[in-house]
Amino acid sequence: MLVFAKIKSVQQKIKSLKKGTSIGFVPTMGALHEGHFSLIKQAKTENDVVVVSIFVNPTQFNKEEDLINYPKTIDTDLSLLKSVYCDIVFTPTAEEIYSNKIQSQVFNFDGLEHQMEGKFRNGHFDGVGTIVKRLFEIVTPHKAYFGEKDFQQLQIIKKMVQKNQIPVKVIGCDIFREKDGLAMSSRNARLTKEHREIAPFIYKTLTKAKKEFGTKNALEVVNLVENEFKKQPLLELEYFEIADEEALQPIKNKDQKQKYRAFIAVFAGKIRLIDNISL
Ligand code: AMP
Repeated sequence: MLVFAKIKSVQQKIKSLKKGTSIGFVPTMGALHEGHFSLIKQAKTENDVVVVSIFVNPTQFNKEEDLINYPKTIDTDLSLLKSVYCDIVFTPTAEEIYSNKIQSQVFNFDGLEHQMEGKFRNGHFDGVGTIVKRLFEIVTPHKAYFGEKDFQQLQIIKKMVQKNQIPVKVIGCDIFREKDGLAMSSRNARLTKEHREIAPFIYKTLTKAKKEFGTKNALEVVNLVENEFKKQPLLELEYFEIADEEALQPIKNKDQKQKYRAFIAVFAGKIRLIDNISL
């Protein structure tokens, strides 16, 4: 496994690959877990070479405190990546990526950016767009793998690729969960014991919402979920929304031709958790 921190070095390596070598790319912010590895394993089966980046991207954090406290476990990450036979790891510093101007490009994602996470995390998707576009330029992958755990992000990246005609196939991968249903996340490591115990309530409520969506209208399902969370003092619901998968517009009336998904953001103490489920 080769590890590069410099753009020039990783580009040189990629350029030296035999013509026709397919490159699968998995961008991450490190503190790797089984969710990340499921993406890497899929990339391994579909490509000749797998590149993983580890970069805690400052421009996508809207709270300085969240950036500072984001878990960083680079040594463990590298040994885990070696054990799954990752080929190339790119671990740049913020200076390497942004020089001395840590700033986002401003994007128009046709309104996808204004829904859900966009309402609560100002500038987040400009930060995501900026870093993913830059990483695509550096790594030049044929396929790039993103988790449905961050479904809005996945749709935004597909939109960016389409609008900018970037020659990469974006592949969405299933959400990987703990045995108790909690969606795996680097942030889970920061939960207190008490919050970790109660956190599976999020997925339980999502599955309940999915079941109810079969017979109830969307507003009834939203009310039901909000009431469930009122009974749960350790978790604070930030939003629960049912939206179509394409434009991420909040549902009005059920349309048989549309695919819907329920999206949720919850505070477990200071830790913000997101999840979603297809309906
Ligand atoms: P992150 O390091 O949190 O930025 O995540 C890197 C990639 O892994 C993103 O595409 C995430 O959507 C994906 N990912 C994170 N957690 C999971 C999970 N539990 N299941 C599937 N993919 C995930």
